Amino acid sequence: MKRLYLHFLVCLALIVGCATSPTGRRQLMLVSEESAINASKQAYVEMLKPYEEKGQIDNNPALKDRVYRITERLIAQAIKMRPETKNWDWSIKIIDDPKTVNAWAMAGGKMALYSGLVTQLKATDDELAQVLGHEIAHALAKHSAEQMSVAMASSVGVAAVGVVGDRKGLALTGAALASALAVQMPMSRSAESEADRIGIELAAKAGYDPQAAITLWQKMANVGGKGPPEFLSTHPSPENREKKLAELVPQMMPYYEQKGPRPTYQLKG
Ligand SMILES: [Zn+2]
Repeated sequence: MKRLYLHFLVCLALIVGCATSPTGRRQLMLVSEESAINASKQAYVEMLKPYEEKGQIDNNPALKDRVYRITERLIAQAIKMRPETKNWDWSIKIIDDPKTVNAWAMAGGKMALYSGLVTQLKATDDELAQVLGHEIAHALAKHSAEQMSVAMASSVGVAAVGVVGDRKGLALTGAALASALAVQMPMSRSAESEADRIGIELAAKAGYDPQAAITLWQKMANVGGKGPPEFLSTHPSPENREKKLAELVPQMMPYYEQKGPRPTYQLKG
């Protein structure tokens, strides 16, 4: 009975809750972007709290400066692309966790980068700009709100509520919980393609080499340790990712080669 009810909810959601992404793809939207942004504020604080308590947030000044400098240039470009996002309370926190190769973004531009992504990939600034550009793209294209909708609608999400609630001890319910779940669930491959395309453009306009998009994903695939990095499980590979990115490189070169300083956005913290 419960299953049937869920099935009914998903179907209803599919009928009433659809929107269109920047590239014309249909998106499931049960929560408005505005509510997604509000819910994400709470989820962001809760997700970071355990690290905060152990002093594992932004505890490496050199890495923090480096990541902020890159992110501030990317955000300036994101605001040019979607001007209303200048009102977002943009944020990035670096989590000191050398074992985890991951990064995520919530609705409203709340991001996290795990130090393991930088150290294990030996990521260059250009490659970091691709990761962060890709994450910003997920938020810009409303993938984060879409993903929250999927978490709320699917039986997988409902089942995961229990799991995540137990394991992480998250004091979250409803939309805020969906927001925390959303960053732990795999994106759709079509959302990945969109984020790749938007991300490489943001990075090129911010002055970062588009070629790095290719080397980044190659490094990601080859990183050592047990199993694939967490980043690859939440950002599955769309068909021909490398080929599609390689095709985009020549289009991005004029942005990258532009002369003059790049605008920056001032992050708090
Ligand atoms: Zn992604």
